[in-house]
Amino acid sequence: MSLSLPPQAHGHLGHTDPDCLFCKIVAGKIPSKVVYQDDEIFVFHDIHPWAPVHFLMIPKVHIPSLAHVGEAHVGLLGRMMVLASKLALQEGCNPYPEGGFRLLSNTGAEGGQEVHHLHIHVMGGPRPWIKS
Ligand code: AMP
Ligand code: ZN
Repeated sequence: MSLSLPPQAHGHLGHTDPDCLFCKIVAGKIPSKVVYQDDEIFVFHDIHPWAPVHFLMIPKVHIPSLAHVGEAHVGLLGRMMVLASKLALQEGCNPYPEGGFRLLSNTGAEGGQEVHHLHIHVMGGPRPWIKS
């Protein structure tokens, strides 16, 4: 597979932003309910859950959004996808197909993004949810 890295992705690899809310959470400067972490991925509960299970998966490095990823991030994003399924079950989502979960990555103003550090919402559990 060959993807080109968009110009805006350069300069973000391996960096953190001291003014970024989620970088502060990764650094432990703002408390969070941690679900999982490894060298490159941090997972924590959303402070305003829309569903019985609602957590956020983020890269530890500061990538502003999904609009900023390129070839250098393919492995990271793939590992996040695989981890989402495992952690959804661990956090109480019911198994597929009766259960399942939803992934969402709001991107940019028109995508409804409020925190500009790439994150994937993972939501699940019995309905109704606050936002269906
Ligand atoms: P988005 O609109 O996709 O940018 O979503 C940002 C999400 O971050 C929202 O669902 C918020 O509830 C969540 N959020 C904001 N501040 C915190 C925090 N301190 N800890 C956990 N989640 C947060
Ligand atoms: Zn950040």
